[in-house]
Amino acid sequence: MARIAVIGAGTGAMAAAARLAVAGHRVTVYERSGTYGGSLGRYARDGFVFDTGPGLLHLPAVYRDLFVKTGRESLEQCVTLTQVDPASRHLFADGTSVSLPNASRAGVVGALDRALGEGAGSRWGEFLDRAGTAWNRSRRPLLEEPLPEDRRMLDRDPYPAVRRRRLLRGARQARTVAEVGAWELEDPRLAALLDGYALSYGLDPRRAPAAAALLPYMEETFGSWYVAGGMRALADAVYERCLARKVEFVFGAEAVRVSEKDGRAAGIDLADGGSVGADHVVLGAQPVPGLLPVRQERPGRSDTAPVPGRFLVLLSLRGGREAGAVHRTVVHAVDPGAEQEAVFGGRTAELPTVTVLRPDDPATRPDEEHEAVTLTVTVAPHGPVDWTDPGLRERFADAVIGRAAEAVPGLRERILHAEVRTPAETAADTGARGGSVPAPALAGAEGSCLHSGNRTPLPGLYRAGGWSHPGGGMAHAGMSGALVAGLVVEGDGFRGSQ
Ligand SMILES: Cc1cc2nc3c(=O)[nH]c(=O)nc-3n(C[C@H](O)[C@H](O)[C@H](O)COP(=O)(O)OP(=O)(O)OC[C@H]3O[C@@H](n4cnc5c(N)ncnc54)[C@H](O)[C@@H]3O)c2cc1C
Repeated sequence: MARIAVIGAGTGAMAAAARLAVAGHRVTVYERSGTYGGSLGRYARDGFVFDTGPGLLHLPAVYRDLFVKTGRESLEQCVTLTQVDPASRHLFADGTSVSLPNASRAGVVGALDRALGEGAGSRWGEFLDRAGTAWNRSRRPLLEEPLPEDRRMLDRDPYPAVRRRRLLRGARQARTVAEVGAWELEDPRLAALLDGYALSYGLDPRRAPAAAALLPYMEETFGSWYVAGGMRALADAVYERCLARKVEFVFGAEAVRVSEKDGRAAGIDLADGGSVGADHVVLGAQPVPGLLPVRQERPGRSDTAPVPGRFLVLLSLRGGREAGAVHRTVVHAVDPGAEQEAVFGGRTAELPTVTVLRPDDPATRPDEEHEAVTLTVTVAPHGPVDWTDPGLRERFADAVIGRAAEAVPGLRERILHAEVRTPAETAADTGARGGSVPAPALAGAEGSCLHSGNRTPLPGLYRAGGWSHPGGGMAHAGMSGALVAGLVVEGDGFRGSQ
């Protein structure tokens, strides 16, 4: 039995902790805040309840596996999961709208044909076939295995872009999300649909490799799921599972340094001056300067490049949710190019893409005469934009509400209270610089979308959570927990569970 110190109680770290405890280790989680869950926060006011992180779960299989491997009760016995159908409704800049059914390729193709014109559906369907190839090629060696020492094989983009001949200039193939949109989808609305998926994960469509196509494939193939009570209920369940496996939690315990002895990790030093010894240390957060032994730090791209965060408006509304209201509506940007320049150039966009979440869940509202609605926008991190500026927060929230009003009739008149959360609040919740939200890892683009490995150059020190391989997002962070547990239990030879 080894002593394992885990830094941070985010989902990736807790997933690792539960698995390591089942393997017989003594695991203690040191969390700097007063609660677990990190990004999976909850805001409650006057009977209205909101998630302050993600609102939908993709790839629940990752958490099904965690619950199967760590106890008798399955995921579905611990939380109530329902598929969101339609998965999303899209309002495009030209006034067209389309609702995409959940996890139904034929349904999506038919809906796109009807809304955007004959042929649009099959173009998207053929694109999803190629995206499926990128997904299958990415599962191994990218998603389900620890990052290999030699990463060159991940430099190549797994997306099989269509080869097109151009007069005089030879063949061209899409290398980025934007190029897939322009050259393969050939309809600005389909391109906006693809751009919207990339942006929602914090990826710049102009630079993200075409491999990002696997994100819509993942959502449209495996479905979008809602956790009853909100996503925080999933954090509650993972925490309860950790406690059941005798993982200990110390709250208000900020790790400031990973200590080292005889060339391996030996424990952690805490901000209050205390220190704890450990045989293995798992870092489940973005490292602040000084946390990792300097000569050992080998940052991943995501540790160094500016990464966007999220701006949320949590709306308490009078008036009940109308019958047939869609759970998720994406109001696409009026000028996607201008939005991308703003978000990735450190500014606020004027008419941004807004995701409107309207869960049909009595647990989120005081009664049937009221409704809780969450608006989410991908924005530049805190730093280039001063998200603590009250005037800016108010102006941007107003612009976001204006856009969301296209999706929710009479929205402004129904507002009882609007709570604003920005990357400045995310920074406080997660410790991530600028309140950035890490994107999932992707192969391609010369490895620029990879994260730090789960195994670090310092023996005994591992990394889990969104800032490490295979990157951010609930599903990916859950996978990182499984990979770290595998590496600790089986050693460096671990190549992913079969
Ligand atoms: C607003 C928002 C919206 C999001 N939307 C989506 C979405 O739509 N889809 C999606 O898949 N994902 C989304 N995400 C990302 C997703 O929530 C995370 O990737 C996922 O929860 C995994 O988080 P994590 O394991 O990396 O830990 P985090 O949630 O980042 O938590 C890290 C934890 O470590 C603690 N910590 C940090 N430093 C220290 C230290 N030195 N000592 C002790 N403790 C420390 C923090 O307090 C925190 O509790 C969103 C995140 C946010 C914030």
